[in-house]
Amino acid sequence: MNAVNLLGFDLEGLAAFCEQLGEKRFRATQLFRWIHQKGASDFEQMSDLAKSLREKLRGKAHITALPVISEHVSADGTIKWLFDVGGGNAVESVFIPEDDRGTLCVSSQAGCAVGCRFCSTGHQGFSRNLDTAEIIAQLWYAEHSLRQRFKSSERVITNVVMMGMGEPLQNYSALVPALRMMLDDHGYGLSRRRVTVSTSGVVPMIDRLREDVPVALAVSLHAPTDPLRDQLVPLNKKYPIAELLEACNRYLEKAPRDFITFEYCMLDGVNDTPEQAEQLVKLLRGKVSCKLNLIPFNPFPASGLKRSSNARVQAFAEVLIKSGIVTTVRKTRGDDIDAACGQLAGEVQDRTRVEQRMVRAPVVVHGLGGRNPQ
Ligand code: SF4
Repeated sequence: MNAVNLLGFDLEGLAAFCEQLGEKRFRATQLFRWIHQKGASDFEQMSDLAKSLREKLRGKAHITALPVISEHVSADGTIKWLFDVGGGNAVESVFIPEDDRGTLCVSSQAGCAVGCRFCSTGHQGFSRNLDTAEIIAQLWYAEHSLRQRFKSSERVITNVVMMGMGEPLQNYSALVPALRMMLDDHGYGLSRRRVTVSTSGVVPMIDRLREDVPVALAVSLHAPTDPLRDQLVPLNKKYPIAELLEACNRYLEKAPRDFITFEYCMLDGVNDTPEQAEQLVKLLRGKVSCKLNLIPFNPFPASGLKRSSNARVQAFAEVLIKSGIVTTVRKTRGDDIDAACGQLAGEVQDRTRVEQRMVRAPVVVHGLGGRNPQ
């Protein structure tokens, strides 16, 4: 058989693989701990593993991280890695250190097929899904290289957000084992509250995640009405806001937190007026237990969109807060290394003719008679 990358197996998968080699389950647990807790990539390092198993593994398995193309460290401590995933594609991961936590933002696809108007990844188009090994390799590399860098024997990454490149719920079969590895006490041991899947609203998969691995959920909302959301998040045409909010309520029955986080990217003159804040209140208050996270837009030339002024963001936030909706304004991190939200571009061999898709719908801009802002 071809040698397999063990980074792609959750504990169940690894147990099944070991069984094929005629080994007992506890051997799989030992192996899993060596890989994920100790960051070992060489079977010879695994001193308490039977010599006979180490010999069986040689030639049949390997533990291989993604090649690092570049690493950038921001003045604020944020670190961005660009990983090579082959075929001319590269994906990005970002580590965001804070006083009480270390968060890793992980990619799930090379590019993204959803094509959100304000997202640099979306503008690149879609190349392919990452497999489980490629998703978990981002965490494996970041955790163990940061431990070395900070000379720490403790866990450095305390939170994972699936908010990098790609729509994780459109790569569900690879995502689920990766999430299980993050949560596994023999792996990264993160609580379900500290692992967040961010989705643009793939309703049937929200329902499946609720049954399979109900971690914290963030939903990219970005608009209070369907006509505007249709333009900003094209997936809305398939799963409109009312259906999405119903799925959020179903999800809350099993979620580890008692609220959904709604992400709302603040776009100057597009979705940031006080009237739109009122519409948002009407949409959400008393309907879904939620928090609103307002994200200052990170402009990139192809978007034709601009960041809302601070005053506008504050005024918008005040309407929400006054209505009783918990609202935060996200601090931008890693601005100087293009690691902020929506700026992850990587490198993608676009197979989707994204340019053609992008020109089809001009964003209706308030006060500009429906013209695209330039
Ligand atoms: S915001 Fe998320 S879902 Fe939308 S295009 Fe970007 S990566 Fe894809």
